[in-house]
Amino acid sequence: MLKTNNCGELRVEHIGQEVTLAGWVNRRRNLGGLIFLDLRDRDGLTQVVANPEISDSAYATADSVRSEYVIQVEGTVQHRPAGTENPNLPTGEIEVLASHIKVLNTAKTPPILIHREEDEAEALRLKYRYLDLRRPRMQRNILIRHRAVKFIRDFLTSRAFLEIETPILFKSTPEGARDYLVPSRVHPGKFYALPQSPQQLKQLLMVAGFERYFQIARCFRDEDQRADRQPEFTQLDLEMSFVEREDILALTEELMIGMVNHACEKRIKATPFPRLTYAEAMERYGTDRPDLRYGLELVNLTSVAGRSEFRVFSEAVAAGQVVKGLRAPGCSNYSRKQLAEVEAVAKENGAKGLISLALEPDGTARSSVAKFFPDPLMVELLAAAEMEPDDLLLMAAGTPAEVNAALDGVRQEMAQRLGLISPDELAFGWVTDFPLFEWNEEENRWDPSHHLFTAPKEEDIPLLESDPGAVKSDQYDLVCNGNEVAGGSIRIHQRKLQEKVMELIGLSPQAARQQFGHLLEAFEYGTPPHGGIAPGIDRLVMLMAGERSIREVIAFPKSQSATELMANAPSEVEPRQLKELHIKLDLE
Ligand code: ASP
Repeated sequence: MLKTNNCGELRVEHIGQEVTLAGWVNRRRNLGGLIFLDLRDRDGLTQVVANPEISDSAYATADSVRSEYVIQVEGTVQHRPAGTENPNLPTGEIEVLASHIKVLNTAKTPPILIHREEDEAEALRLKYRYLDLRRPRMQRNILIRHRAVKFIRDFLTSRAFLEIETPILFKSTPEGARDYLVPSRVHPGKFYALPQSPQQLKQLLMVAGFERYFQIARCFRDEDQRADRQPEFTQLDLEMSFVEREDILALTEELMIGMVNHACEKRIKATPFPRLTYAEAMERYGTDRPDLRYGLELVNLTSVAGRSEFRVFSEAVAAGQVVKGLRAPGCSNYSRKQLAEVEAVAKENGAKGLISLALEPDGTARSSVAKFFPDPLMVELLAAAEMEPDDLLLMAAGTPAEVNAALDGVRQEMAQRLGLISPDELAFGWVTDFPLFEWNEEENRWDPSHHLFTAPKEEDIPLLESDPGAVKSDQYDLVCNGNEVAGGSIRIHQRKLQEKVMELIGLSPQAARQQFGHLLEAFEYGTPPHGGIAPGIDRLVMLMAGERSIREVIAFPKSQSATELMANAPSEVEPRQLKELHIKLDLE
């Protein structure tokens, strides 16, 4: 090795030792005849002093180096002079007095500063990702990721799971997104699809008798990008045979708790993880991935608001719509401007408007709609919303979907404004009992809420014929701080039932056989009951690292527009390559 110690390692007990360090020059200062170098490696920083009275050549080399030069330093560990210790640095009590400094490599002035985080454009960070990754924050994020994945592998191995790889070049495995296609050279006109997840393959591994499978799996989905989406992302994919829902939930919960405690400093808000049915989540939070770090639950005011003379409310309720509200404690004095800002959030999330009602500290209700709630009704409204003096009530009317989406946005906004979001907490929770299908207006057919392999609840199977919209499934989602961090289900394991679901989502028997014939056939050879789940590694690590985007926890992510900015992908290819693939471009 070119070094005897790491740069984060030396302490007072090493004083007097001869050491060799190697790393990057983080910063260089020339102070009254002495040169100080902060030497950085993955482990930390150590201060190096070059004193011309100790070594002329070390001093001369120290004088010539610049930020990000790679150097090797030989020297003696000594105490920093009294008063110059740095309590913020683990190595802050010592320094290395250089006897010899060798430049291992020079560096151009980097386009982004490594030792200081600045607000440079993300595109610049991604173009020079290898420099961006040198920053302590990014090194820490990648370390958290490593620890999490290592924990997962050890934990599942201790529970008799086998890690099995599945192909990347495969056939469409639909998870509701567009496929990435790979043209075949040897089979002109034919394409592989990159897996949106290993879903079918892991089910086939259950047919194959492995009973407990996992994989740290790359998934590919061609969909519009958002902060928490990437064209390729990583899941912990797992599947088990002979299980019921509770087995998967218990195993995943233990895994998550262990992983968080092992990989980061965050605290889990509540264990066992609270559980909500899908219907409860929508009713109380307006979303199926609620942020459970804070309360601010929605209240259903449909019955009382429908009896008011306020037409927006009464007409909505008469048309079968709903009125819901959110009580913001201590916000009765919100100014017109503040109210307008909150209403704008409701509107961005699809509301037509947001009606406010302030209960003054003296108990008087102040609102543009107060006159439409004559006294007994006003008392009922305040009671329904559990209003206390000094609270503000924010109300919206419309279809359940509109009102829920709007108040979900308002709830997040108010939590921010009220400072209710603890940055150190991870609030996990389960959402269960999803509907099996969602109605697709555009296509005029049922879509699977999760994917088409999810089993309906046994007692709801008869409804598949008569009332598909009422069928509940054995799907479960794990949410954390307002993000869906895992989704899974108990699967269909009988051919007939699988064909029925395929028919309901509009797949013709021929199409079903063509796309999924292998799976349908496999189901006829003794398929065990099975189920699984797939936690998203990127999102979990993002939350554990306290980051806002999954790009911060992926070594080489794509930009928001699905571009790899460092190597510049996607890019054009040689005409020869297209010809081999029998592809002609039509870029009109
Ligand atoms: N394959 C599913 C997904 O990627 C997860 C699962 O059902 O296990 O969302």
